Amino acid sequence: MLDAEFFRRWLTGAAAAVDREADRLTELDSAIGDADHGSNLRRGFAAVVRALEDEPSGTPGSLLVLAGRELISTVGGASGPLYGTLLRRTGKALGDAAEVAPVQLAEALRVGVAAVAQLGGAKAGDKTMLDALEPAVAALGESLGASFAAAAEAADEGALATVPMRARKGRASYLGERSVGHQDPGATSSALLVAALASAAE
Ligand code: ADP
Ligand code: MG
Ligand code: MG
Repeated sequence: MLDAEFFRRWLTGAAAAVDREADRLTELDSAIGDADHGSNLRRGFAAVVRALEDEPSGTPGSLLVLAGRELISTVGGASGPLYGTLLRRTGKALGDAAEVAPVQLAEALRVGVAAVAQLGGAKAGDKTMLDALEPAVAALGESLGASFAAAAEAADEGALATVPMRARKGRASYLGERSVGHQDPGATSSALLVAALASAAE
């Protein structure tokens, strides 16, 4: 079973990974966006860590909802509302249980990712974070929540697969054909978030 501590480990691990990789994320965003993805997420996840420190109690669901709210209120870019929605909707889907089974988390993440697709109007193949998130939740669902490592691998492969894609959503879509040949920053950060989930489960 996954308890509140597991979710704290995931979110603080995600914050550390975002902090470590912020320059690379911003560099990717400078090629096909406005060069702020790393700084956007660094600011957002720093706020998440502070909010978690200020909240000594909480359930898996309430901690994810709290983290999602922080991202929405501190990240100005497109990624803030999108990642905020991912965490909030995943948290709501978990309800108020003190511990959740991995298979429940797999299902809740599927709900969260569907909410991201609905909010952004994007689908797999549009060269967005969904190209990493959708394969990750599919892999997790197939293993009934058992293999976070498989989800992380699928997210990595999904992020790499955005290189030859032409962006159809977000800022990168303004570039049209010129978006081809670059890895999507949001798919790259999504792979970091799923890798942090796998590390929390180790
Ligand atoms: P902004 O583009 O506002 O500067 P960020 O740079 O923080 O925001 O985030 C850019 C990332 O957000 C993109 O690389 C892409 O993965 C993701 N993104 C943008 N628009 C959408 C959308 N409509 N649906 C899903 N993801 C999106
Ligand atoms: Mg940007
Ligand atoms: Mg921006």
